Amino acid sequence: MGFTTQEEYLEFKQRITDFLWKEVEPLVPEMEEKDHIPRTVLFPRFREMGLFRLIIPEEYGGLGLTTVQYLPLLAEMSKVSGAIRALIHVHLTTARAVMLFGREEQKKAHLPKFATGESSLAFGLTEANAGTGLDIKTTAVKQGDRFVLNGEKHLITNADFTDLFMIACYTGPRELGGKGMSALLVENGAPGFTIEPMPHLLGCKGLGHGILTFKDCSVPVQNILGREGQGLEIFLGELEASRVFVAASSMGTAERALMESIEYAKKRVTFGKPIAQRESVRMLLADMATDIYGLRLMLEDVARKIDEGKPCALEASMCKTHGLETVCRVTDKAMQVLGGRSYLQSWPIERLLRDARLNVLEEGTPSIQRLVTARALLSGDLPWEFPW
Ligand SMILES: Cc1cc2nc3c(=O)[nH]c(=O)nc-3n(C[C@H](O)[C@H](O)[C@H](O)COP(=O)(O)OP(=O)(O)OC[C@H]3O[C@@H](n4cnc5c(N)ncnc54)[C@H](O)[C@@H]3O)c2cc1C
Repeated sequence: MGFTTQEEYLEFKQRITDFLWKEVEPLVPEMEEKDHIPRTVLFPRFREMGLFRLIIPEEYGGLGLTTVQYLPLLAEMSKVSGAIRALIHVHLTTARAVMLFGREEQKKAHLPKFATGESSLAFGLTEANAGTGLDIKTTAVKQGDRFVLNGEKHLITNADFTDLFMIACYTGPRELGGKGMSALLVENGAPGFTIEPMPHLLGCKGLGHGILTFKDCSVPVQNILGREGQGLEIFLGELEASRVFVAASSMGTAERALMESIEYAKKRVTFGKPIAQRESVRMLLADMATDIYGLRLMLEDVARKIDEGKPCALEASMCKTHGLETVCRVTDKAMQVLGGRSYLQSWPIERLLRDARLNVLEEGTPSIQRLVTARALLSGDLPWEFPW
């Protein structure tokens, strides 16, 4: 099933929006309080609504949404729950790596199961004792038809339920740099593989995280995603679009904060007038909307480039940076509009403010985004021309 017309897509988008606000939103206070996603209740509904298969190609049982069509849905999820957004984001972003880099037999074996939600893939790049990228310490040494994997990954999202992990590791000498790195698909339950839960998060309550430990873990050689030595390309390729997905999530969180602020400002009366009539409050609302508008335009541009297959690492980094700064500024300003009530757990601003902080760290810190941006700029890349 795909969308042959824009009307069909808009109808689908409305169905997802209704589902999120009518069925997920009422569960959020309890998810926050218990720090738990009720998977037995929600996962069957996610399957029925098609959330696990949004961007998986139709030939593998997915809906085949384009990036332009997918971003508004991610944004809508973020308005309702940062945890649900992050869970779906990791599932689909990692599935996307299989779509882009997997061998045909890997796509056929995994993508239909990811599409139904019967199976899920998470990614393991970050290590507690190494920098993210070429510095990683995890290694996989070939012995006959198996790799022997050793190392540790931490902060791995969805580790509480995922059955498959895409692990960044060196399969060749470190001196080869990126060409020595591979992405290895490791099944939960593989001999020598253990998962430990991590401490509770500041926001996105209910989202599970784990430490993955590999001690002489035995993995079949055919579990290399794509080919040996393609690991850096896979992780960088995955990160490029993923940064844009995170920026869309920032937009959703920021839009909800603006929506709540506008409604509140119209209702809250002080000294005989709604605060919406005070210049100081109007300035806050105007600044929030201006930030969001800029982010929307950046997202529209970069989403189109991704769909057209144009390289856009520079735009993706700039978009991620503007997204995280927007969502932090907007949620801070929302606190000012709502005053003391914003600090109470019964109001969504407090949750949005905490959820937003994950967007700062996910897929690379602000400094790393700026380093990527500056490197591309200095090597002569400019993502626009000046026709005026
Ligand atoms: C909730 C959550 C979910 C996550 N999910 C996943 C996941 O599913 N899979 C996964 O692999 N990772 C995941 N991560 C990890 C996340 O991607 C990293 O936390 C993030 O990329 C930053 O890496 P770090 O924590 O190792 O920070 P560090 O690398 O220790 O950075 C600390 C500071 O030093 C700076 N710094 C570090 N190195 C350099 C350098 N070379 N040059 C300049 N500045 C530098 C950074 O910019 C930052 O300011 C998750 C993190 C969180 C919080």
